Amino acid sequence: MKVLLVNPPRFKKVSVIREDRCEIIEKNSVLPPYSLLQIASLLRKRGHEVSLIDANGENIDYPAFEKMVSGMDYGAVIFRFIPATFDWDMQTATISKKHSDAPTIGICWTLGSSVKTVLNEAKDLDIYLMDEYEAVAPELIDRLSAGDGLSDLAGIAYRHEGEIIVNKDASPLKNYDDIPIPAYDLLKSFDFYYADTKHGQPFTIMYTSKGCPNSCIYCTMANTKWKAKSAERVLEELRHLKQNYDIKTIMFFDEAFTINRKRVEKITQAIIDEKLDIHWYCNSRVDLLDRDLLEKMKQAGCKAVCMGIESGSQKVIAEANKRISVEKSAEAIKMVKDAGLKVYCSFIFGLPGENQETVNETIEFIKRTLPTGGEFNIATPYPGTRLHEIALEKGWITGQSDFRTMNQNKSIMRTEELTSEEIERARRQAHHALFLNPKWWAQNIGYVIKNPEDFSLASKYALGALKIAFAH
Ligand code: SF4
Repeated sequence: MKVLLVNPPRFKKVSVIREDRCEIIEKNSVLPPYSLLQIASLLRKRGHEVSLIDANGENIDYPAFEKMVSGMDYGAVIFRFIPATFDWDMQTATISKKHSDAPTIGICWTLGSSVKTVLNEAKDLDIYLMDEYEAVAPELIDRLSAGDGLSDLAGIAYRHEGEIIVNKDASPLKNYDDIPIPAYDLLKSFDFYYADTKHGQPFTIMYTSKGCPNSCIYCTMANTKWKAKSAERVLEELRHLKQNYDIKTIMFFDEAFTINRKRVEKITQAIIDEKLDIHWYCNSRVDLLDRDLLEKMKQAGCKAVCMGIESGSQKVIAEANKRISVEKSAEAIKMVKDAGLKVYCSFIFGLPGENQETVNETIEFIKRTLPTGGEFNIATPYPGTRLHEIALEKGWITGQSDFRTMNQNKSIMRTEELTSEEIERARRQAHHALFLNPKWWAQNIGYVIKNPEDFSLASKYALGALKIAFAH
């Protein structure tokens, strides 16, 4: 079957990231549509023909997209959508329907537990692929191609004789290590893609593992099976990227790249031995790092580690079931900086138990630890998370809360002791505490003096930080 893969256009000219854990509007980065490239290579392996329109990446608007689609012949269209740009993304299905009978298949991780609402509100969406797209998409296309039924295909919801049928959840791909290298050749050029600055191009994101066994109450990835590519398979993909596209910068998109220390040791040692010469970034947890590992990561080209700290209050951390200690977080931040790496930390304001005292503890923590970069989010009760259940139980949200408003920038949920306005004010305090802090500026300028190649990225980040701090 001919399958058209679509990353929908930018939302009001602003780039959107549509990748499982990270389904957000993001004005500073344009990422390659990794999941669609992965689906493409899986479909090719089964003999299907694929084409890709990365409207977000290439900055193709809907009128131009419609012109392209109107002349195309395909048997199914697969596209991604996210909560914050739901109606916008659904225009992809509407436009496809105008020109083709092909079934429209949408993928979104965050709304996997609001399936009926999604299909009720998106009249042109035929099939919602909820989870485990690596396992489900190839099977789905095989069945559509053969005209087989969908009633026992786990991981999807679909329409049948006016009804919405929701099948059971899918199991992860049995052997993630066997997954073919994503079809990077479908990208017109790597020139479209960057994270924060074009300085590090050619750039891509890449998953070496997916899933997280932890149970943080606010996280849409909580309690998902961890599946990983072996070190050998990761290296095969890295070599492919280097040899064919001369990739210089990679952002490993894994929820926690360092879950398996041995695997990371093997990957980093091989990057060093083979002189792959890549700069890379990864996500980790404060309890999954140590000095030796960080040293090895640095030698292998790691430039920064991103970690979720969430709060400087042990009480809030405990209620969020984060299972780390505030002191461990402080140690980890210091350890990463001591290793000569940058450390980007994310914080969340408005989690259960938050009050002015805990906000002050977090602000103090930020001033004390001075991470190289900070992302300050507002607690958002995404459907399917424990936080969503708590918010409903406590009456902080109603069952009708609109998922379109869930974007971590605006509070849609109070806590027992803080109003939404107070939570947003706490976030502003955090911006000021870090981005207007003379010690933070001195530290980061010191880093750039030692690492002049970082000037472009650091200056862009600094300007963005000032903009945020003064805008609030
Ligand atoms: S550690 Fe917690 S926040 Fe991070 S991916 Fe796992 S469940 Fe989510």
